Amino acid sequence: MPTTIYVPTPLRQFTDARDTVQVDVATVGEALSALTLQYPGLKQHLYTEQGKLRHFVNVYVNDDDIRYLEREATALKPGDTISLIPAVAGGSPLADAAGAASGAAPVPAAPVVLTNDEVRRYSRHLILPEVGLEGQKKLKAASVLLIGAGGLGSPAALYLAAAGVGRLGIVDFDVVDESNLQRQVLHSTADVGRSKLASAQARLTALNPGLRIDAYEVALTSKNALEIFAPYDVILDGTDNFPTRYLVNDACVLLGKPNAYGSIFRFEGQASVFATKDGPCYRCLYPEPPPPGLVPSCAEGGVLGVLPGIIGTIQATEAIKLILGIGETLAGRLVIYDALRMKFRELKARRDPECPVCGTQPTVRALIDYEQFCGLTPAASAAAEAPQVAMGDITPRELKARMDRGDDFVLLDVREPHELQICTIPGYVSIPLGDVPKRIGELDRSRDLVVMCRSGVRSGRIVSFLASQGFTRIANLTGGVLRWIDDVDPTQPKY
Ligand SMILES: [Zn+2]
Repeated sequence: MPTTIYVPTPLRQFTDARDTVQVDVATVGEALSALTLQYPGLKQHLYTEQGKLRHFVNVYVNDDDIRYLEREATALKPGDTISLIPAVAGGSPLADAAGAASGAAPVPAAPVVLTNDEVRRYSRHLILPEVGLEGQKKLKAASVLLIGAGGLGSPAALYLAAAGVGRLGIVDFDVVDESNLQRQVLHSTADVGRSKLASAQARLTALNPGLRIDAYEVALTSKNALEIFAPYDVILDGTDNFPTRYLVNDACVLLGKPNAYGSIFRFEGQASVFATKDGPCYRCLYPEPPPPGLVPSCAEGGVLGVLPGIIGTIQATEAIKLILGIGETLAGRLVIYDALRMKFRELKARRDPECPVCGTQPTVRALIDYEQFCGLTPAASAAAEAPQVAMGDITPRELKARMDRGDDFVLLDVREPHELQICTIPGYVSIPLGDVPKRIGELDRSRDLVVMCRSGVRSGRIVSFLASQGFTRIANLTGGVLRWIDDVDPTQPKY
């Protein structure tokens, strides 16, 4: 009986969009070899140049991490499944900006009572024996800090506010953009252009006027994170980038605060609870972040609008359970949700005794420089989709000038076919990103090649790849088709 390998969404671009692959072999190492032999484009994502499995992709046999089995020598039994689980960053964008924190004074410890209005409002909670009057008082006295008021933060904030969590902090300094409304249900069309915090505050106060909402219109940094986190009982991580994710994790571990974690990409989400007293932390799962640019962001890869609704609601559920002390939390378990297959799978997440932050001999005892840790310069981290400067950049205006002069060159568009239906640059040749390695023979090395995508990130990766394959006459279109529309052809729609 063959072994089924589950391919996660971010890696399906290298497997001809297949989400499962069957192999008939004896060990995990052989299974991965068979997989990368069949799909060579996967290899650089799974293995380092030294042939070691990369740290940001975990491999599970059934529900167990192979690091706690026999690693690649782990034997496979008939019917076993292998899951590749990469670190994904998706959530709410948190770019760098300056601002001032507000309302962070500690809550005075006064006895909590419910008013008659509150008893009516929360009656469906009060008749649940697991919550009851005491539980509702706990919720009223509790505080949750949401990192981001975006895709994950929106449903989480709405449900926590509705449930009567007395104090909600929100860290965000973005403004509402039209493209947020497809999933960020805290914000309305009328809020476009308004700060997300102002929009969130208005919506949450309208839902439940009795709450205290603390707004932190700042970038979360190593300098302010511990101070911002300190007054809260639970941290809810809804970020979309790796530096902030590691920062949130480490701050939670250092302060001993549980982290209701969620992340999303395309049709797939992850959720867990990290940094509880005995449970693992995010670094136990993913000791190192992926190299910059290897894992696409939601802005690049897209996300089903309802997906953060599911994952953010799971995070809110876990936060409420942590506050009430009921049920079994996701500490020690990683839930993987696949919306296309409508499947939830559960994997074991173990505390790693050698974890640099929560292990027995931690080496990280204070917050570090997370931009540096994630291999990003401060400038490149401003947005996950910021164009990366690669060899031989060309701007859309320069490209237009070359077209007008009648220069000989090939314009290679590496976006997916459905993206080409939205907007294009005339004269392009299409090879989707994942197909470039196997269709490299179609590219003429003796002609100039300009590579383009939506914003210049994916094409930058292809330029680097082609350079590694000996191409020399290559350039990346900076800013991609979006900047082409801004600078050359404003008649087309942007996405
Ligand atoms: Zn850890």
